[in-house]
Amino acid sequence: AKNKENNQFTSTCCYCGVGCGVVINKEKNGTITLEGDQNHPVNRGMLCSKGLNLHYTVNDKSDRLLYPQMRYNKSMPLQRVSWDEAMERTAAVFKTFIEKYGPDSVAFYASGQCLTEEYYVLNKLMKGFIGSNNIDTNSRLCMSSAVVGYKMSLGEDSVPICYDDIELADCFYVTGANPAWCHPILWRRVEAHKAANPEIKIIVVDPRITDSCSLADLHLQINPGTDIILNHAIGRLLIENGYTDADFIAKHTEGFEAYAESVFGKTISEAAEICGIKEVSIHLAAKYIGEAKGFISMWTMGLNQSAIGVNKNLSLINLNLITGKIGKPGSGPFSLTGQPNAMGGREVGGMANLLPGHRELSNQQHRQEVQNFWGGTVISPNPGFTATEIFEALNDGRLKAIWIICTNPLTSMPNVRLAEEALKKAKFVVVQEISNKPETLKFADVVFPAAGWTEKEGTMTNSERRISYLPKIIEPPGEALPDAEIICRFARKMNFKGFDFASASEIFKEHTKLTAKTNIDISALDYSILKAQKTVQWPYRKKSLQQGTVRLFTDNRFYTPSKKAVIKTVLDGFASEQPDADFPFVLTTGRIRDQWHTMSKTGKVSKLNKHISEPYLEIHPQDAAELNLADHDLVTIKSRRGEVRVKAKLTSNIKKDVVFLPMHWGKILNSDLNRANNVTNDLVDPVSKEPDFKFCAVSVSKY
Ligand code: SF4
Repeated sequence: AKNKENNQFTSTCCYCGVGCGVVINKEKNGTITLEGDQNHPVNRGMLCSKGLNLHYTVNDKSDRLLYPQMRYNKSMPLQRVSWDEAMERTAAVFKTFIEKYGPDSVAFYASGQCLTEEYYVLNKLMKGFIGSNNIDTNSRLCMSSAVVGYKMSLGEDSVPICYDDIELADCFYVTGANPAWCHPILWRRVEAHKAANPEIKIIVVDPRITDSCSLADLHLQINPGTDIILNHAIGRLLIENGYTDADFIAKHTEGFEAYAESVFGKTISEAAEICGIKEVSIHLAAKYIGEAKGFISMWTMGLNQSAIGVNKNLSLINLNLITGKIGKPGSGPFSLTGQPNAMGGREVGGMANLLPGHRELSNQQHRQEVQNFWGGTVISPNPGFTATEIFEALNDGRLKAIWIICTNPLTSMPNVRLAEEALKKAKFVVVQEISNKPETLKFADVVFPAAGWTEKEGTMTNSERRISYLPKIIEPPGEALPDAEIICRFARKMNFKGFDFASASEIFKEHTKLTAKTNIDISALDYSILKAQKTVQWPYRKKSLQQGTVRLFTDNRFYTPSKKAVIKTVLDGFASEQPDADFPFVLTTGRIRDQWHTMSKTGKVSKLNKHISEPYLEIHPQDAAELNLADHDLVTIKSRRGEVRVKAKLTSNIKKDVVFLPMHWGKILNSDLNRANNVTNDLVDPVSKEPDFKFCAVSVSKY
């Protein structure tokens, strides 16, 4: 990853799950500059606006936390302490709670931006030594519905395709996603493919007209929440018009008969009516998909962040299964990962219901295997608290202590005022962070300053199962330490054995050993191979594999017990909070082009703030007229949980009776009225536990 002659390094962008390669120059004054890596298989030199400006976020240290801080009681200010004092106290408090209330009285809440090695040691600490499964991450808010969908249909949390399938596909069904803004470099590849091959078809499904729609041959502007009904209608037409792959269905799937019966439960006309689109559009979508030789379904938060997120995922994956468009070049379901390393986190089992190597916590044999390997305590069979449950448990006192790593729940959690109450009530709060901005710091009893991107080494896995090595290039500021080092120091303070890693490379090696003989086996991989190859796609069972496994299921054998993919029949009902006379609008939330999550990095870059500089409410002009609203008027958006106050943006890009808020802004000074999540709902999918960010009932009024 380093060319010694000119101090040039290769690494991976730390924002989204696309995982673009960057070339970083370390300057003599210790700052960095960067550009897209021309030789990287993902981005071929391209970077989006966020990636192009990454070096500013690294070079600007003005907001960095520089040393550990602590307070002895909630009424005292935080003050600088040594690492040892902070560790000593944190270990003492954790020991006290664990002895008095049991291991389930403490929790960790981490992030899809953590490196794989950080996740690994954290998961090992919590599940293998503290003896609780209360470790979850903000990936729960992002991908967990897709994970469950993959497991139920393909038998494993596994993205079958690779990005090179983009150039081999001739139909894209992009649903619940705006990749032009949120996964820009992948979308550049789709754009270039379309420019070279205008006959390929792109279908975009979204209640809003987004930038992604400008490339679409067909935009299905459905009513929010009606995705399953649309997917079923398309499934019905694929069956009726003979577009299914009968041979593939017979030999390699199960469940088709029940599925076929269920999708015939509604006529196309009924489906069109419920979805709020024309019947002919559904016919056209089915024709495009049915006639395609290579068909990619592409989705992200519009499907995942839903109280019926798992069913939405299954209804979509079914379209690939009934057409046999999986495991073949240019075909497959393709979930776009939001965060840079949500995949890596799951590989080491860093969530409340998982164990390393994609093992299941609920599986006794899996628990035994991991327990034997770690040699710590008995791994509890009880699932830990998931993201929203962590804050509920802090609120009602079941949890006493919370340790937050690399995430800002006080902007990103649904029904965020409840999360704020929870942190107020928490007996002990540890915040491990790079920035002095997150509101969580106000509630912290201990603050650990962490090293950021380029200041530590480790690995990440992108949306196509591609593992990249990220080198340490510069020193972290002040006394900041890599997150893995902080966790290991704490584990040693707790007198746990097995945390004396000399390097990130040793942590990675231990992780790879635990993947042996699993579906994600990377036991042949190590840092030297990653440094030489730059990136490798899992599984990587043998060194002779070179770049790893490009595409899964090419032999039509799936990871289910029967080796057949499961065409799951799902109900098409709604579970979200429905609009009524008091709250007549449906609110949906999402990202904007130039900001990332809660803006602690992108918010530092003035160029990025210029694109859209303040939060706003998208509202249809007809709705605005009924409310006597003009463009830029200040409006109050209320739900049963709270309110937001931002300027109105009148646009016919959104459906009537639907409004949109960007998700990025948190508290500004003492006002929390920019924060979209004051109003969102903490209702979750019953299986994936992913919240319903894309649908809640609100009222809108002029302020
Ligand atoms: Fe970074 Fe994603 Fe942009 Fe690529 S597309 S440069 S990974 S933010």
